[in-house]
Amino acid sequence: SAYVFDFTQGSKDQKDLLGGKGANLAEMTNLGLPVPPGFTITTEACRSYLAKGKEPGELRVQVTMALRHLEDSLDRRLGDRHDPLLVSVRSGAKFSMPGMMETVLNIGLNDASVIGLAEASGNERFAWDSYRRLVQMFGKTVLGIEGDRFADALDDAKKAKGVALDTELGVEDLQALVQLFKDIVREESGRDFPQHPREQLDLAIRAVFDSWNTDRARLYRRRERIPHDLGTAVNVCTMVFGNLGEGSGTGVAFTRDPSTGAPGSYGDYLENAQGEDVVAGIRNTLSLDDLKGLLPEAHAELMTVMRRLETHYRDLCDIEFTIERGKLWMLQTRVGKRTAAAAFRIATQLVDEHLIHEDEALDRVTGAQLAQLMFPQFDSSAERQLLCKAGAASPGAAVGKVVFDSAAAVAAKERGEDVLLLRRETNPDDLEGMIAAVGILTARGGKTSHAAVVARGMGKTCVSGAEDLDIDVHLRTARCGDITIVEGDVLSIDGSTGEVFIGAVPVRPSPVVMYLENGLEAALVDADEDTAALVTSVDRVLGYADEIRHLRVRANADTAEDAARARYMGAEGIGLTRTEHMFLGDRRVLIERVILSDDEDRQAALDALLPLQRQDFIELLEQMDGLPVTIRLLDPPLHEFLPNLTELSVRVAVAEANGYSEAADLKLLAAVQRLHESNPMLGLRGVRLGLVVPGLFGLQVRAIAEAAVARKKAGGDPKVEIMVPLVGSVMELHLVADETDGIVHEIAAREGVDLHIPIGTMIELPRAALTAHRIADVAEFFSFGTNDLTQTTWGFSRDDVEAEFFATYLDKGVFTVSPFETLDADGVGRLVRIAAEEGRKTRPDLKLGVCGEHGGDPESIHFFHSAGLDYVSCSPFRVPVARLEAGRAAI
Ligand code: ADP
Ligand code: MG
Ligand code: MG
Repeated sequence: SAYVFDFTQGSKDQKDLLGGKGANLAEMTNLGLPVPPGFTITTEACRSYLAKGKEPGELRVQVTMALRHLEDSLDRRLGDRHDPLLVSVRSGAKFSMPGMMETVLNIGLNDASVIGLAEASGNERFAWDSYRRLVQMFGKTVLGIEGDRFADALDDAKKAKGVALDTELGVEDLQALVQLFKDIVREESGRDFPQHPREQLDLAIRAVFDSWNTDRARLYRRRERIPHDLGTAVNVCTMVFGNLGEGSGTGVAFTRDPSTGAPGSYGDYLENAQGEDVVAGIRNTLSLDDLKGLLPEAHAELMTVMRRLETHYRDLCDIEFTIERGKLWMLQTRVGKRTAAAAFRIATQLVDEHLIHEDEALDRVTGAQLAQLMFPQFDSSAERQLLCKAGAASPGAAVGKVVFDSAAAVAAKERGEDVLLLRRETNPDDLEGMIAAVGILTARGGKTSHAAVVARGMGKTCVSGAEDLDIDVHLRTARCGDITIVEGDVLSIDGSTGEVFIGAVPVRPSPVVMYLENGLEAALVDADEDTAALVTSVDRVLGYADEIRHLRVRANADTAEDAARARYMGAEGIGLTRTEHMFLGDRRVLIERVILSDDEDRQAALDALLPLQRQDFIELLEQMDGLPVTIRLLDPPLHEFLPNLTELSVRVAVAEANGYSEAADLKLLAAVQRLHESNPMLGLRGVRLGLVVPGLFGLQVRAIAEAAVARKKAGGDPKVEIMVPLVGSVMELHLVADETDGIVHEIAAREGVDLHIPIGTMIELPRAALTAHRIADVAEFFSFGTNDLTQTTWGFSRDDVEAEFFATYLDKGVFTVSPFETLDADGVGRLVRIAAEEGRKTRPDLKLGVCGEHGGDPESIHFFHSAGLDYVSCSPFRVPVARLEAGRAAI
């Protein structure tokens, strides 16, 4: 099969085969943009190599042909002793994996061609600098030699000469370095640096294939949930040179600000530099405006290219470019990563620019991003001491103890501490530490540095390029002016402003939450430009979602206060009110009597509870006037309302030992012992309680009905629904419904008020799901209790398993995500579908909802949409996320 494609042959839609980088290089080539010619070796070749341990047979010949074609078109030969063609060998998987894979530049240089390059370019220093880089990169990434060996030798050379920058090294220094590097290669790898250009090329290609399976790459993929079997493509690209002195350089740019989403391009440029120099933070970079001053024509072309890319991709693009003696070359583009705030702003900007429709705008943001924007931020009115200000690389407010390396971060995390990882700059070796830390602070590098890119991808707070910080990794200190920070000191970093504070700064709610709670107008008062643009965009995008979604969004709320918050967040009702908290505190003695007493005393306790419970419901219904409120009858096991068995046993034993004992205590103990269950989750709870304890559900129904009457008489519009938990058989529901109807009718008649209170059930047992067609005879609605349904379907108790073995299960791949976080669509989801379908067969207008925590989980919401449910119900804070995702599900 064909394993090699010329850049002129592919397109951006071939990421599976050509990888992201290769597909986009091809796309740019075909757009007529200035891309150095080259070819891509497919991911299929890589997969074959990884499976068989050797390159597929046809690959060699195909590379030869592609290379010959390239040489002919440029009229230069790879590694020729006169004017040699040089290439880069670059990895590029389907999903961008920043810094995970290896790239080798300047392939084709050797002892002879370096002289040819010097002659052809008229720049001897450049030629030897390029050769020095090749031996270094090749040694490190292809031959696996510790990178520090080379970096240290380079530092020594600079020190010996008394200079600070690479660019200050002359021809002879570089020649000496090449020799030194070649010695290091021989010493460390036991072989000479390969002089033959084709051998360099083949070894580099193989190294790219191999890099797919490094620990770093595997860790990154696990975290990002990228499959391990995709493989990477390899791009072989004609070298262009940014290290040819003034008038040359290399840069990275974004077509819009990836951090705030502000319009206008943003970039870093480094003169006389090659490859990673610009992102490695070795020298301070220039802005695109500076570039305009230096090279106006190249700058103008760059602007044209960026506009072209934006209109073509209809999205924010990030690019890598090089300028060789004033001529612009494009080396990479892709739809750029961005912060959550930038995602919302850019989506609405593109709608305004008529590049995308509203539906597409919705598709460009995620519920997870919205959730991130709802995180708290530092309180700017609090007293705080600024340590320094640097690049705002990834937003958020992080407070933690300082550590100086990855291992310390991981260890601290295991101790349960929040830490900030402080590094001069990060590289892929720091990944574990970055994951363990709550925030990252670097002394070097801009918004495009490794630290910034990776942190943004993880949604982790990052401040980068704090030049004032002098970090000493060995002493584990950081100096800033005359302040010294030692390991364990607490700092606060603000990834939205780039500020670093000494000590722990208090945090305040996000502007998006303020907007949700108080409305857009209020949020715009006193807002700065970025904040105003952000909340306006969020408001618009939520508007798009609300317009097209089929799923209604309700909230789980137990109190009037929660209900108020839910309403602000856009809840269209309450899907679950738990009543158990209404029996705690002072009321606990009363419920104890309901459980333990004989008829007469029980009735007295019930009578005392009635007005209390009624008042709870009145307040709730008032808050949610006009919107549906689903109240669940008492669910948890009875013993939760009784004293703890062990404590009570001890008390009684002590009393007996002291020669006295209270009859009441003994009676209580007997009851507690009788009601003690070894599996309370599967015991006397839910509807079972209602059927076993006389008058209990009746009390609740009475309180609900009377509350509804009170609201109606007060001119309100109560829409209350009664929900019965843990039903497994229609007969259970039938018995409760009978009693309920009787009570509701009695009250309606007594009060002269028209009262209809729908009664429905939770579907949280497999048997309920499987007999849904019968249950729907009685139930007017179903609400899937997916927490219990997950527990009962899998047969495990959440509290026990999450602590015990989930980590192992996740590790071994039994789950890719906890089934309590994202609904298990195959198993539990199947029961949901069955119940929904069969319930509606019996009762076509059966209302279907969800009130488990899955109701606020993006992936699960998409499932519920596809299962045809009417609403999801989640915690008030998740309501906006659910609105957004319900909209996205409907696109
Ligand atoms: P990454 O995926 O880590 O960005 P790249 O393959 O893009 O790795 O390359 C690393 C660096 O080398 C980038 O800065 C890129 O622009 C530069 N580079 C790659 N190929 C060439 C080339 N043919 N000429 C000049 N610079 C190149
Ligand atoms: Mg790149
Ligand atoms: Mg339940």
